[in-house]
Amino acid sequence: MLTVLESVKLSADYLEKKGIESPRLNAELLLSEILKCKRLDLYLKFDQPLKEHEIVKYRDWISRRGKFEPLQYITGKVEFFGLTFNVTPDVLIPRPETELLVEEIIKLFGGVGGLKIIDIGTGSGNIPVALAKNLSDAEITAVDVSEKAITVAVENSRLNGVEEKIEFIHSDFNQLDFGTDRFDILVSNPPYISADEYPTLQTEITKYEPSIALTDAADGLNFYRTITAKSNAILKTGGKIFLELGQGQHDKVEVMLRQNNFSDIKIIKDYQQIERVITGELK
Ligand code: GLN
Repeated sequence: MLTVLESVKLSADYLEKKGIESPRLNAELLLSEILKCKRLDLYLKFDQPLKEHEIVKYRDWISRRGKFEPLQYITGKVEFFGLTFNVTPDVLIPRPETELLVEEIIKLFGGVGGLKIIDIGTGSGNIPVALAKNLSDAEITAVDVSEKAITVAVENSRLNGVEEKIEFIHSDFNQLDFGTDRFDILVSNPPYISADEYPTLQTEITKYEPSIALTDAADGLNFYRTITAKSNAILKTGGKIFLELGQGQHDKVEVMLRQNNFSDIKIIKDYQQIERVITGELK
């Protein structure tokens, strides 16, 4: 008979030996998901014996985590902006930094009605879903080149009850032609890791997350070049752009925005004091 406490201890030791960061936290989070309780509630159940099917599942999950599979792909879930999203290895796991991107838009536009918003490279759909939840009558378009990502994003819009507010488009954004239709807001968290930096990322990322969501296989700035160049055909005059940035990219992206007719440029730092979001207004 294996109790909650014993199984957490054994699993944490195992994960530590495998070189997983925060092994105890990972062991606790995985077991709390299996027992459908909050992590801290495990402490009230320490002497509770695990049932056979719980042990089988926990063993499998711990073994997967020991091979560096991200916790969020194992549980299939992640929290973003206070909402729950499904994730599969077809989509980037939403990061806390990206909440800043969403927050800036809501700060500026909360209470403004009838906004037309486009999200380029939507992935799991975390950005449009969080915006739809917080900007009541916004009309949102979300684009991704990956059909599998679009499937996950549509599912997430349903899960959060905003499927009516978002149009999902499976396309390379460069191929899109909106005619004379223009947007108030363009938002994107593009793949911004350079080819040189990519191999230095955590094993969890390089082994399991989709590389097309992370790197442009060049200098990390290619998507900023193409998005800023096309933004004049996407945004209304006076429309705003919001881009997530990789560390140290703000100067170069600011130059691109100026060259493409943007003014009122602002750079926002994240909680680690890294320049993380850039915004500008199309003249
Ligand atoms: N923030 C992600 C990371 O550091 C990268 C996301 C992206 O390329 N847009 O892994």
